[in-house]
Amino acid sequence: MARIFWIVCPKCKMKFYAATDDFRNMDRKLLCPFCDARFVDKEADEIIDGD
Ligand SMILES: [Zn+2]
Repeated sequence: MARIFWIVCPKCKMKFYAATDDFRNMDRKLLCPFCDARFVDKEADEIIDGD
């Protein structure tokens, strides 16, 4: 099972998750499913890493 982490969107403040291997500490942009904002993990309001 792929590891995931949770991100809080800086624009709409909603929380969603993404695959750690694909997006954590990468310069790859996340796409918020709620407001379509694009941002990298560093720009998130909050990051909650899984175990
Ligand atoms: Zn958003």
